[in-house]
Amino acid sequence: MSPERSIENDLLEGSSVLKIEQYPDQSIEALVSCEGQTYPLVWTASYGPNVINPDIDTLKQLLSVEDQPTFKNHTLLLPLQANGHCAADCRGCVFANHREVTALEGFGRENRIASRVEPSTMNMLISKAVQIAEMRGLLNPGESFRVNPLLSGDPSYNRDTLQLILTIAAHDRIEASRWSTIAAKTGNAPLEQFEEATRVMRDHHMNHKARFQVSLHSTEQEQRMEHVWHYSPTTHPLYSFEEIAATFSNIYSMSGYASTLAFVVHAGSIIDPAVLKAHFSTENTWVSLRPMIATDTDSAQSMKINDFEDLYCRIRQEGFTTVVMPTVNGIEQDNLNRGLMHIESH
Ligand code: SF4
Repeated sequence: MSPERSIENDLLEGSSVLKIEQYPDQSIEALVSCEGQTYPLVWTASYGPNVINPDIDTLKQLLSVEDQPTFKNHTLLLPLQANGHCAADCRGCVFANHREVTALEGFGRENRIASRVEPSTMNMLISKAVQIAEMRGLLNPGESFRVNPLLSGDPSYNRDTLQLILTIAAHDRIEASRWSTIAAKTGNAPLEQFEEATRVMRDHHMNHKARFQVSLHSTEQEQRMEHVWHYSPTTHPLYSFEEIAATFSNIYSMSGYASTLAFVVHAGSIIDPAVLKAHFSTENTWVSLRPMIATDTDSAQSMKINDFEDLYCRIRQEGFTTVVMPTVNGIEQDNLNRGLMHIESH
């Protein structure tokens, strides 16, 4: 699908906005420049409450490419690293440093390196995103919104994650945020930063709803490592199930919010609901499933709908609140074709 229109700097000529594309569902992709680095910004359609514990009819609709529900509000997706790079090397992600996708239009990836987003830059990006959204009628002046720092980069690679969370939590128009990590042991302690941010927000009575997510992708450690194939268990291990469960428990006891285990689901996915139940509490852990559609024969193939329904039912039977992310479609199908499949599914 091509964007309905592509408007290059028409209203923002001469500013730091390098590019804006807006799609028929109003979603916006923009590229902005700051101090010699480029950053992606995306306003994407939010999912409605129907995605939480859907009944079977709703589940079928969420899995359908043709019969997609309409979403109204938009969520701002923010990067944690610059230049369309991420120091991780996740399978199939356009932001991976050494993957098959080596050039992303506008980023100048070929001669720039990943560098982490700092809190001052994050504030600039948010201001620019608000300016764009208000200009394009996506946001009313003064209206609050939600953000997900889910574009290029991962908290595992940003030592400022705690300050970034608190910067966003203190923003007077941002009501909620969702933070996702592959939970790699890079020395930046992403789970500890999540926990500390929750503690600070509680102690300072901050009126912000931050939710945290670990993208597990498999309940089998080998397949989990395979997804993040930059790493080896000896040099850069991933957090264990026990460590993740302990973080979720601590966050829940401080905030009352459950955290989420996310899975991109394809035909070869190994996801055992009994393993989830053995390690994680249904009180403080939600499960998020995102079915993936293969767009060519080289990609991981889609899980059959009956198998997906069976997996969903077995996870629900174990007692987990389960979020089903709609099948990639429309703008996301287009993004998938261009390699941006990681959006919302780190
Ligand atoms: S999925 Fe996330 S962590 Fe992995 S390469 Fe992409 S941006 Fe980095």
